[in-house]
Amino acid sequence: MSRITPILRYRNIGISAHIDAGKTTITERILYYTGVNYKLGEVHDGNATMDWMEQEQERGITITSAATTTFWSGMFNQYLPHRINIIDTPGHVDFTMEVERSMRILDGAIMVYCAVGGVQPQSETVWKQVNRYNIPRIVFINKMDRVGANFLNVLNDIKNKLKVNPVLIQLPIISSETFVGVVDLINMRSIYWNNFDNGLTYTVDNNIPSNIYDNALKLNQKLIELVADSSEELMLKYLDSIKLTELEIKSVLRQKVLNNEILLVTCGSAFRNKGIQLLLDSVIDFLPSPKDINSVNGVSIKDDSLQLNRLVSDNESFSSLVFKISNDSFVGNLTFLRVYSGKIKCGDVILNSTQNVRERIGRIVQMHANKKEEIKEVFAGDIAAIIGLKNVVTGDTLCDVKNPLILEKIKFPDPVISVSLEPKTKLDQEKMGTALSRLSNEDPSFYNYFDSESNQTIISGMGELHLEIIVDRMKREFNVNCNVSKPRVSYRETVINSIKNIEGKYIKQTGGRGQYGHVVINLFPLLPNEYSKSNNGYIFENNIKGGVIPGEYISSINKGIIEQLKSGPLAGYPVINIKVQLFDGSYHDVDSSEIAFKMAASIAFKKAFLKANPVLLEPIMSVEVETPEEYIGDVIGDLNRRRGNIEEINDFFGGKLVKSFVPLSEMFGYSTDLRSYTQGRAFYTMEFSKYNQTPLNVYNKIVNINNLK
Ligand code: GDP
Repeated sequence: MSRITPILRYRNIGISAHIDAGKTTITERILYYTGVNYKLGEVHDGNATMDWMEQEQERGITITSAATTTFWSGMFNQYLPHRINIIDTPGHVDFTMEVERSMRILDGAIMVYCAVGGVQPQSETVWKQVNRYNIPRIVFINKMDRVGANFLNVLNDIKNKLKVNPVLIQLPIISSETFVGVVDLINMRSIYWNNFDNGLTYTVDNNIPSNIYDNALKLNQKLIELVADSSEELMLKYLDSIKLTELEIKSVLRQKVLNNEILLVTCGSAFRNKGIQLLLDSVIDFLPSPKDINSVNGVSIKDDSLQLNRLVSDNESFSSLVFKISNDSFVGNLTFLRVYSGKIKCGDVILNSTQNVRERIGRIVQMHANKKEEIKEVFAGDIAAIIGLKNVVTGDTLCDVKNPLILEKIKFPDPVISVSLEPKTKLDQEKMGTALSRLSNEDPSFYNYFDSESNQTIISGMGELHLEIIVDRMKREFNVNCNVSKPRVSYRETVINSIKNIEGKYIKQTGGRGQYGHVVINLFPLLPNEYSKSNNGYIFENNIKGGVIPGEYISSINKGIIEQLKSGPLAGYPVINIKVQLFDGSYHDVDSSEIAFKMAASIAFKKAFLKANPVLLEPIMSVEVETPEEYIGDVIGDLNRRRGNIEEINDFFGGKLVKSFVPLSEMFGYSTDLRSYTQGRAFYTMEFSKYNQTPLNVYNKIVNINNLK
């Protein structure tokens, strides 16, 4: 079988927005107009198609990146069918991992802003993420129907906050204070949607309302000049007063969008069914096909310094990235893939190059919102799900067995918060094991381990809501009942001084064979330039000379230290940013063993650590609060009480935007407090920023509590 849709007619896109800007409603409308979903689902009814997970419906936020495939042939049937894969990106910062992984696999994005709220703090966070992946994008200004909608304000906001120049291709038409349609600035015509059939039908009018005609003409002129300026041929045409064709204009704009040189702006009201078909046309006209991405980078499975790449083409070897794993109650494990190159069909054997295991492809499905269509084959550019793969974790590369590579990994931030879980019964304990291993395969930004000292299972993640949802899913999907502790901050331990010549001995003489391990180490705080992603804040240097410790024991010594790093000597938190030099020691011909050296190393490390002025580091969050001016005093007072550092206070849509850094440990209960003293009129976003040393009073409290345990 060959592919149905040529790759040039694919669009893999994400819709990126501040919470409540209307992403779910827009997705719903897209599914409606493209014919997938005939019943309009309203978010506030809790039956929106993309939000099929139970608790998502209750919370009204989209947590999981669902991928859905749909087809579009243009508002005026002017194109051959295009395959649009929509990857739903979550807006909440507690799900950074979800955002990151969807950014990795999409080729283009629709940035949604609310016509009343404009570019809100969280939109700036999302903007930075899109920038990091250099994703071509267009803007949709939604909610044009709302009282207080202000198109110009949002444009200014885009210029000032996002530091880009918006290029308008539409202008809203307001009649008797009601948003009724848009001016298409490329073709200089008006488009009005009808209310009686949910905007399925519309009127195209070559006249432009007189009150906005001059403005429309000026903006059209600006567009034409921008296009003419791109080539000599077009410039000559323009100077000769020859009209540029729609195709000429669109192809120049398209190239500029692909190069991220301009930001095209469209507008509408998803809720009132206006503007969505034109938005889809813009996706086809201006956002990239997988072919425009050209190639994907990876490394050799044998040597990760050896760069490899694959052209985006069916004729290359198969390569794909797993961007999501979910558990479906009917078919079991679903592994979502983005195929970059090559093709596979049911029955093929592929290599999971990240885990180094082979797997056979059983069934493949394409997702259409919550419906699944079985397919036999997938091609370059496709997004699909495989049923029943066993050894797979989000972020893995699946590729050709004979021509393997590992694609660039998805980056997951460190977890900053944890809770402990105590299963209610023995049966719950068993079920919890299965649940946790499944959930952590799905979401590698969530960690779990068993703390044998406290006899508790600890889970850690990105924020309170992240962990709440995991506990919730354990209850609902896996029937696990457990008590959950209050959230705890994930501190880190490190040292600020160096210490030299610390000895660790593990020497035992009991009956037959004894134990003999002896090491001498130096310990240093890591210099900033010594840190790298690959060493993750720990360097081990072996400076043993003349075989005073035989080479075979060195890796056990390193292991002995690494074990100590997981649970630091101060209060049991992970140790970061240190360097250990092993430079002396001794051994015994008969009694020395790997175990003895491992023990000696951990003894030496603990001693050295406690003598090198150990400190506790705490996660510091970047917190941005948007508040009406009358509450600014309360907001700042509260942040100060929480040991916050105020960085900036700026004007923001008639209110104020406060940027600050606050220790995570002080942020518990913040949303409730903020809501109560601002009558629910202020909003905030919070993101992990860095680790700082804790002040002495916090240090004393934590170190003492942990030592009393
Ligand atoms: P999301 O959080 O970005 O997915 O936003 P939703 O799609 O859930 O929308 C948030 C709220 O805004 C819901 O109550 C929607 O009904 C409403 N909404 C979405 N689009 C529009 C619009 O164009 N106009 C108006 N007035 N409300 C809208």
